[in-house]
Amino acid sequence: MSEPRTALVTGASRGIGAAIALGLARRGYDVALNDIARQEEALNDVADEIRALGRRAETFHADVSVKAEVDSMVAQALSAFGRIDAVVNNAGILIAGEVDGLPEAHWDAVMDVNAKGAFMVIQALLPSMKARGYGRIVNIASIGGKHGAPAQAHYSASKAAVMGFSRVLAQEVGSLGITVNCVCPGIILTDMGRVNLDDPHVRAAWSAKTALARIGDPEDVVGPVAFFASDDSAFVTGQTLNVDGGIVFS
Ligand code: NAD
Repeated sequence: MSEPRTALVTGASRGIGAAIALGLARRGYDVALNDIARQEEALNDVADEIRALGRRAETFHADVSVKAEVDSMVAQALSAFGRIDAVVNNAGILIAGEVDGLPEAHWDAVMDVNAKGAFMVIQALLPSMKARGYGRIVNIASIGGKHGAPAQAHYSASKAAVMGFSRVLAQEVGSLGITVNCVCPGIILTDMGRVNLDDPHVRAAWSAKTALARIGDPEDVVGPVAFFASDDSAFVTGQTLNVDGGIVFS
């Protein structure tokens, strides 16, 4: 394929998504950056950082849980860049709450962003990837979707849904040159991660549970995502990789 590659990263204004967008730019990708409209300033800052690296960056506001916004974002990104080689479905939310008493609206919001959002972004992109016979789909799941922690049952369900969806999609589109893989971050220090990590005792306990004896930074997730987004992973599809410093061993 001719360079540069193009990637679409959702939820790219901060945390793991911003690190992935910058990491892909450093590896030679032009990047379409998505986030919700209220993250405009932070998203623009990431775009400026990418441009400073000499790569192209464009921002596209959309709530990934709203189909009309997703369809419009993908159409605009395809029009701006001509093609999207790789998509990283990173946008996600965590609203903590135990099952007993969990508001239905919290279940719906978490499922809609984390699971349905990835489905809708992929569905909007598939026709162009199929037409070109090429695509790299990387879905950010979570070790929470395999193991999970109290007060995160709905989050765990949403991430397990992403993994199951990815395994089947990989079988549907593999013969068309499109791979689909998941990355499962462990405990990563981001705004979302702070839900787990604000209390120093909790932070120490997570470090102690981790083989590498530390919690992760957003940059720790970049290399594995870049691998799945690249041709180095051409014969890898339907897989899930834990990027957790050694917490979950399956
Ligand atoms: P974060 O809250 O710092 O960043 C999430 C980003 O997604 C934000 O920029 C947010 O504005 C955006 N976003 C939220 N809802 C959106 C929507 N509806 N449409 C578009 N964008 C939206 O969180 P993070 O820790 O960087 O998480 C990134 C991904 O990694 C998420 O999918 C999360 O579930 C996953 N993850 C995080 C951890 C962790 O410990 N931080 C662990 C495992 C998995």
